[in-house]
Amino acid sequence: MAEGRRIGLLGWILIGFVVGVPFGIFFKDASISMSWMGDLFLRLLKMLIVPLVFFSLVTGTASISDPVKLGRVGVKIMVLYLATTAIAVTIGLIVAAILNPAAGMKLAPVAGFKAPTVPALKEVLLNLVPTNPFDSLAKGDILPVIAFAMFFGVAAALAGDKGKAIVGAIEAAAEAMYKLTTIIMWYAPLGVFSLIATTVAKQGPQVLLPFINLILTCYLAYFLHVALIYTSIVKFLAKVNPFKFFKGAFEIMMMAFVTRSSNATLPVTMRVSEEKLGLPRNLISFTLPLGATVNMDGTAIYQGIAALFIAAIYNVPLGFTQYLMIILLATLASIGTAGVPGAGLIMLAMVLQGVGLPLEGVGLIAGIDVILDMGRTCLNVTGDVACTTAVAYSEGEFSPQTINNL
Ligand code: ASP
Repeated sequence: MAEGRRIGLLGWILIGFVVGVPFGIFFKDASISMSWMGDLFLRLLKMLIVPLVFFSLVTGTASISDPVKLGRVGVKIMVLYLATTAIAVTIGLIVAAILNPAAGMKLAPVAGFKAPTVPALKEVLLNLVPTNPFDSLAKGDILPVIAFAMFFGVAAALAGDKGKAIVGAIEAAAEAMYKLTTIIMWYAPLGVFSLIATTVAKQGPQVLLPFINLILTCYLAYFLHVALIYTSIVKFLAKVNPFKFFKGAFEIMMMAFVTRSSNATLPVTMRVSEEKLGLPRNLISFTLPLGATVNMDGTAIYQGIAALFIAAIYNVPLGFTQYLMIILLATLASIGTAGVPGAGLIMLAMVLQGVGLPLEGVGLIAGIDVILDMGRTCLNVTGDVACTTAVAYSEGEFSPQTINNL
């Protein structure tokens, strides 16, 4: 969002974070009495979750369920997109469980917050299906809302011409929610300032150390996902030399890193994929825009690690079922995440809500989200291109030589 020499919103958020620290140290009482500014930010974020998830998921699934797109290529690319995303969260969880970036940071449990009781897996799966979708929407029960949105999106697409009006209207509503998100994010610098100042005032400055660990943990997991998963996909499923692949995709990766937006990078992704990597236009015109919307491995890694981090700092024990829930929810949340800067942070709230973790964690991470967003967006886009290359190869529509000769 930073344009030209202007500081830009994310710059202001960083400033809010940086200024909030000394403010919290030197003006303890003022920070605590101003904590309502942070609470307001949290309320605004919470306000976005249900409509944003519902409208964007219906739009996403309806676009996937287009009968033509649901062909063989559609199935292949979706399987790859979903599998790589689920693997991504798992890698994130493993790295976070080993490194424990929250070590040394313990916040008092949030007032009024009860640690969730661990539900059985059978119950979790059964509860995916709402008995009354409107009740789930009203209560903000995210999992049934997601399930209903997906059912509805598929059904609306299958309804053909008659379903088009509602899909169009919901798409417009999703656009409005993205816009509202952008507008609300203009308040983020003040909200972040207040949340950090309050936290530092209450906990002391040593509270910041784990954030550095969090950044290092995320980047290590990002790197592992590229080195293990994307490398294997292009090498074994597309017979392409991974180094040449990354060399060819470098421009795309850089664009994603600096714009922090899969959508903004899309024109570059498509041009480079066609002109440099030799991927066929008919295929990429479907898989890459789809990927920019639904395939977000970096976001999934980040959400997995962030959920663990937040559980640890708020002292919420997680059982096996919760780990599975995080994998499921982060995979779904990353599908519902818009390809714009910072969107993954908003959807993180959905993961936290689904697992029963304190939403205050979103505010804590917001200050360093820019740094995490650069890496995750880079992965999000690279994953789209790697999976597309594999599908193109399996369809016999691409010659590995084009990339291997780079
Ligand atoms: N910025 C990311 C993207 O555009 C989404 C996110 O915030 O996770 O891919």
